[in-house]
Amino acid sequence: MRGWSGVSWDGSLPTRQLLDLDIESLLDLSGRAAEKALAINPLTVTAAPIIITGACTTSPGCRHCKWEHLKAMGRPPFIDDRSVGALTDWAHALADAGMHRAFFGTGWLGYRLPRQVLEKVEDVCAAEPRLEYYGLFGALDRQSHFDLASAGLTGMLTSLESPSERVYRSFRPGGDSLADRLKALGHTKEAGLKAWTGFLVGLGEDADEVAWGLDALRQIGPESVSILPFEPFEETAMRDHPPTDELWLARVNAAARVVLEPSTVLFSDHYRDVDERFGAAVGFNGSYITTPPSKAFGSQAEGPGHGDRPGS
Ligand code: SF4
Repeated sequence: MRGWSGVSWDGSLPTRQLLDLDIESLLDLSGRAAEKALAINPLTVTAAPIIITGACTTSPGCRHCKWEHLKAMGRPPFIDDRSVGALTDWAHALADAGMHRAFFGTGWLGYRLPRQVLEKVEDVCAAEPRLEYYGLFGALDRQSHFDLASAGLTGMLTSLESPSERVYRSFRPGGDSLADRLKALGHTKEAGLKAWTGFLVGLGEDADEVAWGLDALRQIGPESVSILPFEPFEETAMRDHPPTDELWLARVNAAARVVLEPSTVLFSDHYRDVDERFGAAVGFNGSYITTPPSKAFGSQAEGPGHGDRPGS
């Protein structure tokens, strides 16, 4: 498709065609959208996980599950259920290091969040008020969203995982569905929580499916979005799957920046050198910090979210 430099995106070019633009034209458009976005949210929002438990009821397990890799590496947060005291200490350390937000994580434990997890969330939110808290629990039912709002959460981090049901079930044969996740995001808004969502790329999705996903994100109207790369990890069934192409990742994020509201915080995972080559034009203003640069953390550093960062 021919370039589109010099033309402002006014919603008249279908999202699907944005994805077909040559990369210079797409980055030109996203660069102008990024200027508006960074005028609203100029600072990088930093976010780190608080892993409550590595337990997961998804069966069969996800074929890309990074947590399996981290468990095999013996990372304590993924092996042990953590006490409120340990979780609170970690939250204090994140706040002391200047982090803006934290997301509680568990494996998917079903549609109704277990009471003991909810109580831990409530206790940590009350004990460390300097952070904004989000929940990474996979698709939950309506009641759980209202319970979490009462417990002190700011929002939910519920990824679509993939913009394609076909691809979704290829790497995630068990557990909640893409439709469940869309429904959960409706509950998120209904409960007055902020919606943080997105999807993974590099798992075999095509441009039509990504265009559908970007339109779905726009319709959801999320406060934050993470469009992140699949990475193959040892000890997973997908260890031999090729990693995500950087240009594809940049293209999808640039198109997202164009179609999403300028107030959207767009998170980068700092994948290889994508930020260096494309970050300014995409206007990333959210950042995952899984090993915060502070001696306050000692050796406790937690790994990122499920499968890949915003999974579950
Ligand atoms: S990616 Fe998350 S939901 Fe899937 S098996 Fe791993 S921990 Fe469970």
